[in-house]
Amino acid sequence: MQGTTARAMMLVEPRHFSMTKVPTGGVDDGGWLAVEATGISGSDVQVWKGEARDIVYPLVPGHEVVGRIAIQGPSVPYPVGTRVIVEPRIRCGACHRCRQNLATCVSRRPSNSYGMIPSIEPPGLWGGLAEYLYLDPNANLHPVTDDVPAEVATFVHPLASGHTWSVELPALKAGESVLILGPGPRGLACLIAAKAAGAGWVGITGLAHDADRLDLARRLGADLAVDMQHGDVAAEIADDLGRRPDVVVDVTSDDPEAVFTALDLVRSGGRVILASRKGNRALHFLSDVIVAKQLTLRGAMGASSIGYQWATNQLETDPRIDDLVSHQFPLTESARALQAAAGLLGREELMSVAVTF
Ligand SMILES: [Zn+2]
Repeated sequence: MQGTTARAMMLVEPRHFSMTKVPTGGVDDGGWLAVEATGISGSDVQVWKGEARDIVYPLVPGHEVVGRIAIQGPSVPYPVGTRVIVEPRIRCGACHRCRQNLATCVSRRPSNSYGMIPSIEPPGLWGGLAEYLYLDPNANLHPVTDDVPAEVATFVHPLASGHTWSVELPALKAGESVLILGPGPRGLACLIAAKAAGAGWVGITGLAHDADRLDLARRLGADLAVDMQHGDVAAEIADDLGRRPDVVVDVTSDDPEAVFTALDLVRSGGRVILASRKGNRALHFLSDVIVAKQLTLRGAMGASSIGYQWATNQLETDPRIDDLVSHQFPLTESARALQAAAGLLGREELMSVAVTF
């Protein structure tokens, strides 16, 4: 396929896609992936809206990629035709951040994440909204089952984050209680992962327009699912759990208030994981609550490789994941896919969104 071209949905500037043909050759040391499906996440919506930091347009968005090896290349350990998940973060493994196991890498700026790398960087195909994706020599790949549709397999990405955020980072122990703020794909994934890790109680909160997601959360085993606009979360937790949760994970979409809610609701000595960005908006709060309650706060970015390994296994054994990808669009309707993921096409039965090829 060297010398051929890929159709790519180029995001020329915020909210402006242009279908572009990009040559697939020109870089010898990596490989190429034929994209099968790409999930659309909240951070893709921020890139599309122009609200994400460190983004240089034009670029090909999409970092939740599932596809098949098309050109193996020297760095790719799997033969042509193998279906793989590509970890979004490309890490050199040698810089001080990579050695400390952080998500960001100093050797690639402004971003080291697929879907956020400018298309000016050769070979230009760094996002999942294109027929082919360049597999950087440092890309991390995970083989994944052929037994599920490609759009379902995209849910490995949120699932991996769910495991990293609700199990690994808070060092969750069996029997502990976890409250998840936000019932989007990553919130639902946190619920699945925490339950699978033996959490004794898992609650989840959302807004009035999240009714269908909260219903799905109940079917996935949530002990409590609360619409915060109509219910009193603290009172409902007190009724249901009888104490404050050990861990609170903030995976809300663009809601600065959620930080206060997390600090308020967690137990003294508990852990708070902040995994949602607030669009650079300032928060005004009294830090004494952190001191007085002796809390541990942890910022979370992306999923670990351990999270990906757990999630690829979970995909093979958990048929409930079929219900988590509710909307699919073809590549030519990428703009509608972004609108759907942003909730602009309505939130009824909206779980998560994928573009399929
Ligand atoms: Zn690095």
